[in-house]
Amino acid sequence: MGSVVIAGAGVTGLVTAIRCARAGHRVTVVDRGPVPNHGSSSFDQHRALRALTTENSGAATDLHQRWVRLQTLLGGRFYRRVGVVSGWPADRVTAAETMAARTGMRIAILEPNRLPHIVFPDGYVGVHELDAGVLLAERVLHAAVRWLRRHPAVTLRPWSEVVAVDTDHARLQLADDSWITGDFVLVAAGAWTRDLVRTATEIHRQTIVYVRPPQELTSWWEQAPTVGGVGDDGTGWLLPPGDGTLLKLSAAGMCRTVADLAEPDDLDRTMAHRSRERLLAAPQRYQVVAVRHCHYTVDARTGEAALEQVGPAVWARAAVGGDGFRTAPLIADRIAELAATAVAA
Ligand SMILES: Cc1cc2nc3c(=O)[nH]c(=O)nc-3n(C[C@H](O)[C@H](O)[C@H](O)COP(=O)(O)OP(=O)(O)OC[C@H]3O[C@@H](n4cnc5c(N)ncnc54)[C@H](O)[C@@H]3O)c2cc1C
Repeated sequence: MGSVVIAGAGVTGLVTAIRCARAGHRVTVVDRGPVPNHGSSSFDQHRALRALTTENSGAATDLHQRWVRLQTLLGGRFYRRVGVVSGWPADRVTAAETMAARTGMRIAILEPNRLPHIVFPDGYVGVHELDAGVLLAERVLHAAVRWLRRHPAVTLRPWSEVVAVDTDHARLQLADDSWITGDFVLVAAGAWTRDLVRTATEIHRQTIVYVRPPQELTSWWEQAPTVGGVGDDGTGWLLPPGDGTLLKLSAAGMCRTVADLAEPDDLDRTMAHRSRERLLAAPQRYQVVAVRHCHYTVDARTGEAALEQVGPAVWARAAVGGDGFRTAPLIADRIAELAATAVAA
């Protein structure tokens, strides 16, 4: 078996490290900060886990099962299987049903009055995906780190900034001038990957609003699903509170492209607060606790996520995409196959 070196300890790096360690490789994960790093895009209270999208290819259908298995392997409880409800125009629901039948997904149609605290656009109904829900993202990262720390073939190296990648020789240069060489190298430094290897990515900055529901609705919200395609224009989404997390809101209008991560934030904060009005019935009853922004990257040519080969045995996950958390186990399998090929070469 060979050695795998991973730059970046976000969800991509950590889940790939687990997959490669289980395949029998020696694995080193380096991160410029603590592991896990609260400055990474992966570090947040929650992330949505769903499979039903308009362009569903079927590949994502088993994500639910993958996360159930990962939870069993890592221990702890980080998958809240509360379902995901997506707003769909009523006249397009047959398309959702056809897609679900084709991919074996369990769905149910829900009238908006079943979710009376959430604003649906006129003429929309809810498509309820049952095997889906919320990943408690910070808990996922901590559980992964605990598992990796116990594994004899894994080395975690926090506070080890990568300053250069030698793509020809599969090695990373660290800030202290040392080098780490692997049979296979993955650069999974999230939105910062483009500082290390040449890739064509676009940075998206999304503003999210955390609110606290009124006391009398706490138990309603704790059972509520993740909801997308809602709000007055059908572009809003929310992640429900529960297990100690807040209710989190955003919408398409709160996402914009920035030239680089250091670009000053230009978002009018009142707009962020307005998302509360657009998504929630009786919005004034919800207290805004925090507003923050966070970044994800897409391939500048396709607008999608991508895994790119940047050297004979070096790959980069520069474009992680807006679904990069839930798809991490899927991509980790693909990377493990590539690592096995590189080791065998
Ligand atoms: C607002 C928002 C909402 C989202 N919602 C969802 C969702 O609901 N569902 C979903 O599936 N996805 C969602 N995503 C996308 C998802 O969060 C990201 O795609 C994913 O977390 C990226 O993980 P990563 O491990 O690739 O990168 P990151 O989590 O950013 O990790 C990169 C790591 O690399 C380290 N690093 C950077 N530079 C260096 C260096 N030079 N040397 C060493 N280490 C370095 C960083 O410290 C960091 O720890 C959302 C994203 C945003 C912004």
